[in-house]
Amino acid sequence: MRGLIFGFAGILTLSVAVSAYSQEIIETKTHRLEIVADGVYFATGNGALHTMSNALIIERDDDIVLVDSHITPSAGRALLESIRTVSDKPVTTLINSHFHYDHSYGVPAFGDIQIIGHEYTREKLSHEPLNDPTYQFSLTRFNNTLAALEARLADTGDPTERAEIQSRIEYWQAHIKAQEENDPAPPTISMSDRMTLFAGGREIQIHFFGRAHTGGDVAVYLPQEKIVFTGDMLLGRPSFMGDGYVSEWSQTLENLKQLDFELILPGHGPAFTDRERINHIQAYYRDFNTEILRLKEAGLSAEEAAARADLRAYKNTLGINQLGADLRAVKRVYALKNKTAD
Ligand SMILES: [Zn+2]
Repeated sequence: MRGLIFGFAGILTLSVAVSAYSQEIIETKTHRLEIVADGVYFATGNGALHTMSNALIIERDDDIVLVDSHITPSAGRALLESIRTVSDKPVTTLINSHFHYDHSYGVPAFGDIQIIGHEYTREKLSHEPLNDPTYQFSLTRFNNTLAALEARLADTGDPTERAEIQSRIEYWQAHIKAQEENDPAPPTISMSDRMTLFAGGREIQIHFFGRAHTGGDVAVYLPQEKIVFTGDMLLGRPSFMGDGYVSEWSQTLENLKQLDFELILPGHGPAFTDRERINHIQAYYRDFNTEILRLKEAGLSAEEAAARADLRAYKNTLGINQLGADLRAVKRVYALKNKTAD
């Protein structure tokens, strides 16, 4: 194991909650690999390139099962390179936590492997995924970020600041360029409620607990290690709701809580152990839905509701300081109420 260092992951990285666990961390060129159990590594990007989401590397006797593949084939290749610092076993199986581009577009980096995902994920990734509105929205955001940096560069004379902006411009240019290679592949094996892999000395359970962040989020659970990778169905904070089922989400998390886990590995942000946080997030989704429907029934447009929604009761628990809500989340709640969303 090259580059092994010891650290307290909870203290080094957590902005959400300080976790009680401490882990060995392997630093690679592009990733931090936290050893969360023997042969199980939680991979997070170190900022050298745009990985956008977390991944989980599960070593078995003769191969590796990977959960999520990052946002582009280029980021996927960087992940594979990082995997090679801890194991030379082949990556044979990939599990997609959900269909979103930032978790699933890295797939081509891993060649011809089996991909497991929920049938909803297969459906979404089988029909022109590159035209998906959530992906298209992100492309616009990437381009806007680059344009804003270029405008700042044009306005700045200070050489140190110019060099710093220039390096960020190159980072975003590389990320935007990397999108050209995107060629998403749907799961080759789909599942509905539950699937378990028993091979190679490791039990890997894949659970669908109900609709949440999308219509097909799965949690990957290692019962012996008491670890669960939750994708975006559960982060240390509220997740993006624009493709979500906000009124059902809290119950889905209630179902997830029936698993006996001690460590939660989310699709974004640091690992955490605090179960109480799940309760706050459940309550937040319930209150969010109620608040938006209240504004809708009062006759407000989605834009007005997004400006006025008040979830500041979650200031202390989830850091919601400001009035207002994400417009895409509000539009989603409106559309589901009108039954114009799928
Ligand atoms: Zn997502």
